[in-house]
Amino acid sequence: MSWKYCWRCGAQLSVNAIFCIRCGVKQPSLPDEELIAEVYKIKEQLEKLRENLVRGIISEKSYEKIKVELEDKLNRLREKIKEKIKSIKEAAQELMRKKEELNDELELVKARFSIGDLALQQYNTIRLKLEKDIEEISKHIERGKLKLERLEKLLQ
Ligand SMILES: [Zn+2]
Repeated sequence: MSWKYCWRCGAQLSVNAIFCIRCGVKQPSLPDEELIAEVYKIKEQLEKLRENLVRGIISEKSYEKIKVELEDKLNRLREKIKEKIKSIKEAAQELMRKKEELNDELELVKARFSIGDLALQQYNTIRLKLEKDIEEISKHIERGKLKLERLEKLLQ
């Protein structure tokens, strides 16, 4: 059986788990999941390494060597995460721009209707369509924010 790690609390979960068995938070869908799991795995390994040094199970020399390796891995993952964060932020900006455009369009349609330039049925059709698109974009933006929070947490 393969495992993943809760992005919030680090609990070990079955790879298909939708919710964390420890803290109950919803688990992200692929592909960030693998990245997140990898980071938690390395962090856990670093902790265990330190523990084993303190308990005298491993030598200082081995500790230092493996620590450097793990930290290198972690740094490479952090670079990947930073790239992802950057692209999500760019996408969010694009979505915000689009949302603003649609809001302007909606305003315009309302204004036209207010002077009798649009029939009621026509107005309602256009308005509903725009409102639906705006809602869809807002959801996208929210999802992006959650994703960002999750990824930024990994950089701490
Ligand atoms: Zn959890």
